Amino acid sequence: MSGLVVAVDGPAGTGKSSVSRSLARALDAHYLDTGAMYRIATLSMLRAHVDLTDPDAIAAASDVPLSVGHDPDVDRAYLGGEDVSAEIRGDEVTRAVSAVSAVPQVRTRLVALQRELASGPDNVVVEGRDIGTVVLPDADVKIFLTASAETRARRRNDQNVAVGLVDDYETVLADVRRRDHLDSTRALSPLRPAEDAVIVDTSDMNEAEVVAHLLQLVEQRSGAVR
Ligand code: C5P
Repeated sequence: MSGLVVAVDGPAGTGKSSVSRSLARALDAHYLDTGAMYRIATLSMLRAHVDLTDPDAIAAASDVPLSVGHDPDVDRAYLGGEDVSAEIRGDEVTRAVSAVSAVPQVRTRLVALQRELASGPDNVVVEGRDIGTVVLPDADVKIFLTASAETRARRRNDQNVAVGLVDDYETVLADVRRRDHLDSTRALSPLRPAEDAVIVDTSDMNEAEVVAHLLQLVEQRSGAVR
């Protein structure tokens, strides 16, 4: 028997990652961060000096030996045997990832891997951009988190400041807008809510409120939390 499958999609800065992890904990579920997979592929290509303005070059380099863990409390992102969990969160990868994730060969490969990792008897919370629309269209519950670009940039900038990076709201806002635009206008799997997704605007909610709300939704939509 397969477990409960919850898809959580939405743009960066909606609190998607912390919320998805909390949800996975509450549901005793595996947690799959699909963004981390695109980030590992991007890191691999940056290291190999692949020309990221050339989709054919990206496609040719798309067979990346990557793996990720499924524990919501432990980040495990591997390139080959190397733990790259911290490096994939860096600026260089963040700036380059949209170019890599727009290439069909990359998506085909990662989507197949994501489906495999989400199958099985355990409950699973899968976080990404296209989980409810493309990766797992039969997910039991589909959630699409949103928040205004300003709110998302403020959160991201606060996080940066908290870890000692420069305080630069305007640059962060410009980056949020740029990535939104790239992710929502790309031809393949653009960022958009599935028709049967519940859209949750987190602009005026704190994390605990969002998690409580999502747990309620899961309970309503799945009949019961298994
Ligand atoms: O979620 P995160 O910000 O780590 O995702 C990094 C990038 O990976 C996104 O900006 C997007 O380009 C890509 N991505 C994607 N599809 C997913 C998850 C992430 O295209 N399911």
